[in-house]
Amino acid sequence: MEDLLNKIPNKVQEVLGHIGKAASELNAPAYVVGGLVRDLILNRKRKLDEADVDVVCVGSGIDLAKKAGKMLKPGPKVSWFKNFGTAHFNYNKVDYEFVGARKESYQRNSRKPIVEDGTLEDDQLRRDFTINALAISLQEEDFGRLLDPFNGLEDLDKKIIRTPLNPDITFSDDPLRMMRAIRFASQLDFHIEEKAFKAIQKNKERIKIVSAERIILELNKIIEVDQPSRGFKLLKDSGLLQIIFPEMIRLCGVDVKNGIGHKDNFYHTIEVLDNLCKNTDDLWLRWAAILHDIAKPNTKRFEEGAGWTFHGHEVVGARMVPKIFRRFKLPMDDRMKYVQKLVNLHLRPISLTKENVTDSAIRRLLFDAGDDIDDLMLLCQADITSKNEKKVKRFLENYEIVKAKLIEVEESDKIRNWQPPITGELIMETFGISPSRTVGIIKNAIREGILDGEIVNEYEKAFQFMLAKGAEMGLEPVK
Ligand code: ATP
Repeated sequence: MEDLLNKIPNKVQEVLGHIGKAASELNAPAYVVGGLVRDLILNRKRKLDEADVDVVCVGSGIDLAKKAGKMLKPGPKVSWFKNFGTAHFNYNKVDYEFVGARKESYQRNSRKPIVEDGTLEDDQLRRDFTINALAISLQEEDFGRLLDPFNGLEDLDKKIIRTPLNPDITFSDDPLRMMRAIRFASQLDFHIEEKAFKAIQKNKERIKIVSAERIILELNKIIEVDQPSRGFKLLKDSGLLQIIFPEMIRLCGVDVKNGIGHKDNFYHTIEVLDNLCKNTDDLWLRWAAILHDIAKPNTKRFEEGAGWTFHGHEVVGARMVPKIFRRFKLPMDDRMKYVQKLVNLHLRPISLTKENVTDSAIRRLLFDAGDDIDDLMLLCQADITSKNEKKVKRFLENYEIVKAKLIEVEESDKIRNWQPPITGELIMETFGISPSRTVGIIKNAIREGILDGEIVNEYEKAFQFMLAKGAEMGLEPVK
């Protein structure tokens, strides 16, 4: 195997050289371990300013970090956690994490192990997967040598996720590793060894001792891959999805009545997600795809003549978004509102048919979607997954018409970030009234009138309309 460390930037190689020197002065042999080694072997791009360089030493990780830090100019600020025996510094925008090699044993009800000092091999053995347990020596005498006691190299070659220990123990000890197995299988397009997958199925309930914050970090990484459907299928087949995301499991399955079935909304959803992922890296837009049909099971009816319907699932679904976000400890800010908005609007563009793609329908859509209109259109396009060619053709035609019309109407009316020309204050001032329902009614009427095309979108025309509407309600201007 060619010298792996030669593949990393010089600035990092130099730091590793110093770490090796510091390690030999301390008589604490040091190694690079984990994700960096794995990605170097896979020739996988790794942004070193985002992902850490993990260093393990047979001795004190804190002493090593301090000593290596002193050798660098300018010296980085070294921080450490005495309790965990870990240390960290950032040098030239790269994060270096240090830990002393350790042996771990676990108790039933906690992810937190009892830790003792150990050998390098003990440390490699406590790592989650063989592909993450490879180490590269930083000692002067064998700088760059690969240490691979569990055949991680072979597993990388065969694209297999396997645990160094009996998987039953590995997953039971720290159940987060079950999510990580699926995350790495999704990211690397690897296969989880059968024995390991069975162990996940067996230990799935233990995921309940893992915090929502940890789970969502892994789930989001699964969502961020090029083709997240694989990860979701693995989550479902392992039984983990039932526990962490029961709403999604409710999408599974097909009911048939009078010989009429509907599509399986779980597979539809992950197909929409994959479709969308070809056009966006945005995590929140991807979340909108995951949740767009989430309320279909709640709204499902069989209606004679119409077959299966899911009336209002977009509205009910939008209402479910905050609940799901809160449970996963996802942000409850504008990002949640954005997902909620897209779920709410996801049927609008496609439900416009040739006959009703009117300027006013388009103006309303632009007004409701605002700056998120392009994202909404991406979601709608991804949502076209029917096997019925005629239907797909009709939807795509509509989609193109709506898209062209959106550009046309936006150019002439500038509705995207539009605010009606008459404010509530102006209404109150004109009629000498205080804040009240009346103000809202007039303001609304003006906005609706403009969106419907009854009034031209101009101050003077809107002002006249306001006076007329006021008069209808018995109001007169004060001046
Ligand atoms: P990424 O490329 O996503 O950063 P990574 O492999 O570097 O992947 P980290 O979460 O940064 O992942 O973990 C660094 C290393 O620490 C892993 O490669 C693995 O050896 C070990 N590790 C992390 N989490 C666990 C865990 N829960 N159980 C056992 N080992 C773990």
